[in-house]
Amino acid sequence: MQDPQPSASHFIDGAPVEDAAGASIDCIYPATGEKIATLHGATSQIVDRALDAAHRAGPAWAAMSGTERGRILTRAAHIMRERNAELSELETLDTGKPLQETLVADATSGADALEYFGGLAASITGTHQQLGEDWVYTVREPLGVCVAIGAWNYPTQIACWKAAPALACGNTVVFKPSETTPLCALKVAEILKEAGLPDGVFNVVQGHGDVGAALVADDRVAKVSLTGSVPTGRKVYAAAAEGIKSVTMELGGKSPLVVFDDADLDKAVSGAILGNFYSSGQICSNGTRVFVQEGIREAFLSRLGERLEGVVMGDPLDPEVNFGPMVSERQMEIVLGFIEKGREEGARLASGGGRAPREGFYIEPTVFADVTDDMLIAREEIFGPVLSVLSFATEEEALARANATPYGLSAGVFTSDLTRAHRMAKGFEAGTCFINHYNVAPVEAPFGGAKASGVGRENSRAAIEHYTQLKSVYVGMGDVEAPY
Ligand code: NDP
Repeated sequence: MQDPQPSASHFIDGAPVEDAAGASIDCIYPATGEKIATLHGATSQIVDRALDAAHRAGPAWAAMSGTERGRILTRAAHIMRERNAELSELETLDTGKPLQETLVADATSGADALEYFGGLAASITGTHQQLGEDWVYTVREPLGVCVAIGAWNYPTQIACWKAAPALACGNTVVFKPSETTPLCALKVAEILKEAGLPDGVFNVVQGHGDVGAALVADDRVAKVSLTGSVPTGRKVYAAAAEGIKSVTMELGGKSPLVVFDDADLDKAVSGAILGNFYSSGQICSNGTRVFVQEGIREAFLSRLGERLEGVVMGDPLDPEVNFGPMVSERQMEIVLGFIEKGREEGARLASGGGRAPREGFYIEPTVFADVTDDMLIAREEIFGPVLSVLSFATEEEALARANATPYGLSAGVFTSDLTRAHRMAKGFEAGTCFINHYNVAPVEAPFGGAKASGVGRENSRAAIEHYTQLKSVYVGMGDVEAPY
């Protein structure tokens, strides 16, 4: 197995950089609680160096043609795929997610983003509008230095989902991973460099929220892209507003998954499993409020219970294991607190309900039935393997209750009635909807939240708009008439 200890904590101006004066960050393997690496948070000098490097590298990178930039990103995608086994192992060590998942969902998803935006880079253009003899044309220009801040659940994917569109558009990036998962972004930086990315175009600095805040506040920064919780999003959005900076906010959710009685029961149960237990439930778009139509509620619960017998909990590096630990002891305690609250509030425990009897930060996949809308477990984002089943009678009721939340990240519906499926999708107050599926996030589809769940979209052509600004140029071809 690889040694997860990186040669240095940060990656600035094309090279690993260390500054031991920064506060220690211990990287803990969630499956055992063992320390596997120690890094240092960025000091103010490191933050300044990274921003300076990104700022200096900007003009030359922006001046390259889209084809040249795209070629580098595409090459990085190939390297990432070639190194998938090693990167997936590191992702597992960083997050505790089973290798079975990381092999197919992390570096591969990052590579998809690099390939997609690499392919798109050459076609980022403006428009031309004839106005009689005169005309106006637009140019899609990069914004400048982008600060990207990640959550801990998908460290490789988040780094790539932010870097790929930003770089394709000619911006430079300073990325701050969550201090809980500091390892993977350094590999992304290394791979981009190997692919030919000029020094300073993509930089990584480590640290807690204070480092993120220092980056966001700096005058050299034009854009901030955050993946994180709603409370952090509020702070970062406000700080960015202070400098009139553009933002992309990918925040939390409490998404509904509505299962009608005409749905294919097995597919709906699969959707609920993907939407609650993949990555041990640590996914922002999870459909944690599963509304099941009254007549099939018990059948749904019983089928779900049977399917959960297929959970193989254990060492995430074992390829047979399909259920890993929480990312940290702290996250485990938070989730156990919600489970306790669910019991206290009178929800019926149908499966799981506690810490798994093994070392590491494992929680059993937990299903609560008879959950009502007012219970805390139905209102707050838990970010763990806790599924709540609520029952409903009519379509109108399901839609109204699905939307009765300040969040609006995702929503899903399982039904065999085509028109009802589209009515529900139209009615959902959510940025990302699923019909007869759940939690698939191909790079071709825009991803992001409505309401408190976010601002802007990642992935797809839509991301280009969030990493460029439009300049319009009016061209006068004739006389210039003035009143005096
Ligand atoms: P947090 O909001 O705690 O942190 C997100 C990032 O922001 C971390 O890197 C954190 O640093 C940093 N940060 C914290 N405070 C500040 C600040 N004042 N200024 C700048 N940066 C700051 O989220 P978690 O890491 O706990 O991740 C879980 C959350 O992320 C959930 O709510 C989840 O829904 C959301 N999420 C959203 C996704 C989406 O695409 N919509 C995808 C994945 C997760 P540090 O933690 O290192 O101190």
